[in-house]
Amino acid sequence: MNFNDIDKWLEEKLPEMEKDLAELVKHNSIEAESAPDAPFGTEVEAALEDALKVAERLGFSTRNEHYYGIADMGGTAGEDGDFYAVLGHLDVVPAVPRDWEHDPFSLTAEGDRLYGRGTMDDKGPMLAALYGAAALAKAGFEPDAFVRFIFGTNEETHMAGVKKYKEREKMPIGGFTPDADWPLVIGEKGICQFNVGRQWIDAEEKAFLILNKINAGTANNIVPAMAEARFEIGEGAELQFADSEDITVVLDGEEIVITAYGTAAHGSAPEQGDNALTKLLRYIDRLDFSPAPAKAFVADLVRLTADDKTGKDMGLSGSDEYSVTTVSPNILHMDRAGGTLTNDMRYRVTDKPEKYKKLLAQLAERENVSVDYSHVTAPLFADKTAPLVSSLLSAYRDVTGDMTEPLVIGGGTYAKVIPGMVAFGCEPVDEPSRAHQADEYITRAELLSAARVYARAIYNLTK
Ligand SMILES: [Zn+2]
Repeated sequence: MNFNDIDKWLEEKLPEMEKDLAELVKHNSIEAESAPDAPFGTEVEAALEDALKVAERLGFSTRNEHYYGIADMGGTAGEDGDFYAVLGHLDVVPAVPRDWEHDPFSLTAEGDRLYGRGTMDDKGPMLAALYGAAALAKAGFEPDAFVRFIFGTNEETHMAGVKKYKEREKMPIGGFTPDADWPLVIGEKGICQFNVGRQWIDAEEKAFLILNKINAGTANNIVPAMAEARFEIGEGAELQFADSEDITVVLDGEEIVITAYGTAAHGSAPEQGDNALTKLLRYIDRLDFSPAPAKAFVADLVRLTADDKTGKDMGLSGSDEYSVTTVSPNILHMDRAGGTLTNDMRYRVTDKPEKYKKLLAQLAERENVSVDYSHVTAPLFADKTAPLVSSLLSAYRDVTGDMTEPLVIGGGTYAKVIPGMVAFGCEPVDEPSRAHQADEYITRAELLSAARVYARAIYNLTK
């Protein structure tokens, strides 16, 4: 295969790719109310229709199933034989325009950068892969296995689109999802979000402070930037509140309100944040307040979250050659009769879910708390020497010359839903992620380089 011609063709096509990206970015494709033939809303459906139009123009045969779309290169992969899949998504996370310097829904070029929601996650990378595959077809490549592009429409919220695909369609023998980082994600940690709770009987007790409520956190998977405790003023000796940079104590009507401030981060990377919830707990633990069972629960939580990043004090920590377990306490609700702490655990890739089911049961027993969770997602771990991994990695290395080793991340991408897939591109090595951020962008150079990598990757897989 002459990759010089392929690289040249892709460079010539770059303005066209940019135009296609502009069309896709126009749609504010966050999950919305369903409509006929638009299960996740009309904007998601419009983005899907536009992406399939691009695929058709590039020579793919397409099918719109509304929950997902299919573009097959070289015959209809589903019926004709084994195929590799390229799986990505056209839905986006919300963009708050006032946080952006650019219009999130109109592709804006500034120098080499193309700004817009979805440029990096995941509309841009999917287009780069489509053009990469099209370049092979244009060069007359006749593959041994087929390639099917699967466009998901509900990745950011519930992955319902691709789950529908799984129910209805033939599965690939392998493939990749261009929806993470370069060079390649070899492992995704296991995930379990679990609640630690305790209930008690509210008893009338006399103290200067009587706890009304604690509220902290906004989402299971976000390190909380703010946490608040509200106390009624009761009887007893008045307290002196120690000064602290990150804590305020104010009187709000009849209540004393104590607020702790920190820095938000993704729950899979608690080391990048500063947890306001545990700061608040440590502060109020030093105060005398009632009811006594609430005070006791706070003391237990302070002990269990003394390390609020690795789960050490809950007996959950561990590491292996590839990854470190993290546990981030992200939500706390408490009142006079009980409380629940929600934790986001990402456990090391070499463990099995059963181990954590056991450890969580032991935690409940040992601490006299209830521990519940909806599920424990198994980790994903591909052998570094597996043919799929080496085919993709060598494609990346050929184009970029970058020899960075494959990564393990906190999870979870599409690769977890469809067996045999790994996440492959396109966020640059050693840079903060642009996905989900304000002023998300991809550069033209990154689009072109990604398309060249994907062309070689698909060639390596299917030759
Ligand atoms: Zn994504």
